[in-house]
Amino acid sequence: MTVTGDQHLVKQINKSLVLETIRWHSPISRAQVSQVTGLNKGTVSSLVNELIQSDLVRETGPGQSSGGRKPLMLLFHHLAGYAIGVDLRVDSISAVLTDLQGNIIERTEQPLQTNDVEKVCSILKDAIHSLIAKAPESAYGVVGIGVGVPGIVDENGTILFAPNLKWQNVPLQHVLAAEFQLPVVIDNEARTGAQGEKQFGAGQESSNLVYISVGHGIGTGVVMNKELYKGSRGFSGEAGHFSIETNGELCSCGNRGCWELYASEKALFRQAARLTEVQQQLRQTGKDSPDMELLVSLAANGNAAVIGLFQQIGMYLGIGITNLINIFNPESIILGNRMTIAQPWIQETLFHTVAERALPYHQQQLQILFSQLGMDSTVVGAASFAISQFFTRTKVLVD
Ligand SMILES: [Zn+2]
Repeated sequence: MTVTGDQHLVKQINKSLVLETIRWHSPISRAQVSQVTGLNKGTVSSLVNELIQSDLVRETGPGQSSGGRKPLMLLFHHLAGYAIGVDLRVDSISAVLTDLQGNIIERTEQPLQTNDVEKVCSILKDAIHSLIAKAPESAYGVVGIGVGVPGIVDENGTILFAPNLKWQNVPLQHVLAAEFQLPVVIDNEARTGAQGEKQFGAGQESSNLVYISVGHGIGTGVVMNKELYKGSRGFSGEAGHFSIETNGELCSCGNRGCWELYASEKALFRQAARLTEVQQQLRQTGKDSPDMELLVSLAANGNAAVIGLFQQIGMYLGIGITNLINIFNPESIILGNRMTIAQPWIQETLFHTVAERALPYHQQQLQILFSQLGMDSTVVGAASFAISQFFTRTKVLVD
């Protein structure tokens, strides 16, 4: 039988639909796949057989029956391949090896004492090599690499501008693809974190959400109608640089009074460094500047000045979040990255500010959540980009 171009395309689309259905609903029977996809049972059976042959789907024991013979259940074979996810931060590199379902199998953390491009790239390559070496035997091996970076990235995976790293025009995708001969996805760390929480974390049930990464700076990732919103050139989400003080301080982006100057770690540490108790602790521990661990331990011991600073951060976070709620009317706001460690001290003023200021209709059916993946939102999101790209490519794997 000759297969025309159109038939070939239809088969590709159907096969991908069947695979996605099994991927997100397993264990599932052939009859259920047929119900969910609307494809007839014969088509589903033949596509499932091909997916079993290509090791992406496996069969398991009989499931629940509504009478008659119990059906064999289908499982997505999440160990058919692996992906690398990286969170490139200003002061460290966090990298993981995940299976095709985003479960973390191995991880490595490397501190960065420099932001020199060549040195950082060399540490990054070593970290990725070490994880690839640990990937178990599988049908597809390591299928790709995803990296979240604290900056603006173009469609070729070049970091155009990362103010906190002081990087400009670094062709990271090209550098990593040349080193590893694997597909590489580079995206902004906050959008990558949004992807992680949407696919595998606190945002799985939300079609419209805003993920807010509060670390050294602030970035956001917006999911609209289940899709990550990119903007015309992929630069969306720089909410950390919207002004909340007209004549505020000058920001590294060129604007004044940016949100991240009042609500990020940068803002917190700068103010904390002026507190006598903090200065005392720094002298005792030999550290140059305050960090999250130090401030959280002081707050946990009831230090009123530090608790006051956290409450102020919560209030400023609430102001920016109010703006985002009024613009996007999301189902969920998800807070992620390092500031979430201070959840017990920031959440009250944050919730209070939003309750007081956001438009009342926008507050109905809105939930403000803290990330479910903790500090792993970005690494898991980065791996998820690589996995999604792999499944887009496997659509082509039709005879
Ligand atoms: Zn700015």
